[in-house]
Amino acid sequence: MGVSPGIVGIIQAAEAIKVILGIGSPLVGRMLYVDLLAMRFEAFSVPKDPNCPDCGSVGP
Ligand SMILES: [Zn+2]
Repeated sequence: MGVSPGIVGIIQAAEAIKVILGIGSPLVGRMLYVDLLAMRFEAFSVPKDPNCPDCGSVGP
């Protein structure tokens, strides 16, 4: 669906504004699943992986 990037882009812009202003509950440690065909939005918790070079304690 051609409108998908627009919808997700607006959500990302709202998240950026929340982080910059320090308001609300931004999607930190969570992932948003968007199903536009069923018009369903679900947020899943995504814990950090301690062995991950990007988000874990092990650096590159
Ligand atoms: Zn990671």
